[in-house]
Amino acid sequence: VPVSQLLRRPTDIIGSAENAAHPNIPLPRDLYGPNRRNSRGTEFGERAALEQLVSAIAAAPLPAPRSIADATESEANAAILAARDGFKHWARTPAETRAAMLEKAADVLERRAAHFIALLQREGGKTLDDSVSEVREAVDFCRYYAAEGRELFGEGKAMPGPTGESNMLCLRGRGVFVAISPWNFPLAIFLGQVTAALMAGNAVVAKPAEQTPLIAAEAVRLLHEAGVPASALHLVAGDGRIGGALVAHPDIAGVVFTGSTEVARTINRALAAKDGPIVPLIAETGGINAMLVDATALPEQVSDDVVTSAFRSAGQRCSALRLLFLQDDVADRMIEMIAGAARELVIGDPSDPATHIGPVIDAEAKQRLDAHIERMKKEAQVHFVGNTPQGNYVAPHIFELSDASELTEEVFGPVLHVVRYRADRFEQVLQSVERTGYGLTLGIHSRIDDTVEDAIERLQVGNIYVNRNMIGAVVGVQPFGGHGLSGTGPKAGGPHYLARFATEQTVTINT
Ligand code: NAD
Repeated sequence: VPVSQLLRRPTDIIGSAENAAHPNIPLPRDLYGPNRRNSRGTEFGERAALEQLVSAIAAAPLPAPRSIADATESEANAAILAARDGFKHWARTPAETRAAMLEKAADVLERRAAHFIALLQREGGKTLDDSVSEVREAVDFCRYYAAEGRELFGEGKAMPGPTGESNMLCLRGRGVFVAISPWNFPLAIFLGQVTAALMAGNAVVAKPAEQTPLIAAEAVRLLHEAGVPASALHLVAGDGRIGGALVAHPDIAGVVFTGSTEVARTINRALAAKDGPIVPLIAETGGINAMLVDATALPEQVSDDVVTSAFRSAGQRCSALRLLFLQDDVADRMIEMIAGAARELVIGDPSDPATHIGPVIDAEAKQRLDAHIERMKKEAQVHFVGNTPQGNYVAPHIFELSDASELTEEVFGPVLHVVRYRADRFEQVLQSVERTGYGLTLGIHSRIDDTVEDAIERLQVGNIYVNRNMIGAVVGVQPFGGHGLSGTGPKAGGPHYLARFATEQTVTINT
């Protein structure tokens, strides 16, 4: 099923790069640095120019109506069957050709960065900084998986064997991979999942979050333009019910999911209940992420890193800090500094380059966060309440809990929970982190090697950051993914990720 049939009004989605309202403005090449595997090799040095471009695009009227149709269940099923056919050809496309397509997509994405930034701001409510980082990350995923895939999926690996026998180990695509993604990184996570699955030789049916389908549609169009055949990549828009229909289909060979732990469980159960082949699930989910700060930490640095980790992106990052453990001798001073820094954050229109915190994703998210904040106001000690503008905004809040166990679930917004501890009770802090059951990110601020080593050795956490902030993992530098309630473990943007999308085949030939 070509994407144009599922998106019933493809030309209405958004002005293409050729549209006069969306001039194709090339960004300076050095935006992405000389290291083509990783766009963050150099600092972004043209910010003023970029701001100008983005505000020009943001001011341009978008063609109306901009709409996308949810797929019906039968369209979703048709997409799987079409992908099953597409797989036959795609699986035989050489790894080199697949990699070249991803690199071409990265080039076009770079050229149209301003267009994608405007879209991220409008549909995803992302600030300029967050949008720029997200486009960079998406470019990184394309280039990194292309480079890794070339090595992994090119020639097979010759294994040792007796004379007169050749043994080759090869990685191959599994079949149809269903890719289900969240709204909080609607471009980078969407493209990361899809390009990994494609690079590994799978056909893909991608279902983006219902809040951000337009960005996904643009990303799919980009890959098709870069040469990925329509038969190998299908977009199915819709909510969780359509995701459920895809997962239940008998002809799928794998699922990659990023989102909440609860939905990952639902998908896991649905896969387990099916007859037929056992279908693997790659799940990357949420966290109750902690930062541990002792009296040897540098207060200014802690304050900066806490504000960045807890409040940037309106706290809507899976890696964001939720639980801050402060050693009691320094806690009052630290809380005062953090609240002071939080007070300086600008909340408002994401298209204004001065904005630090944009809106939360929708009214439902705001309601959920407001309800949590009201409960905390009654049950916890209130340290900071930011000013919330009209609209779907949630300002930063800081509450103190008497025990970490009072926070029982991931609160996906700019709400920081502080817990004090005595220096001789550090063991209990480690136990509290373990008891959350999550294992995505952890921050440690300490100059004592034993403390740092102890925490690293004890805690089963996917990404640990020492004496810095704990967000913004970089592709190919900090492979990202968690354990326990936070996911099944594979590291997106890491050297072992692509193999998780593949099967292994050993061929022994008697020569
Ligand atoms: P969500 O779980 O509500 O939805 C994620 C996706 O699953 C959406 O596309 C949704 O339509 C789909 N879905 C919902 N029910 C389904 C079902 N029964 N079957 C199949 N698909 C279904 O998550 P969200 O609100 O979009 O995203 C926020 C969550 O994602 C947070 O928990 C956050 O921590 C997590 N997250 C994790 C990572 C990571 O890498 N570990 C990254 C980003 C976000």
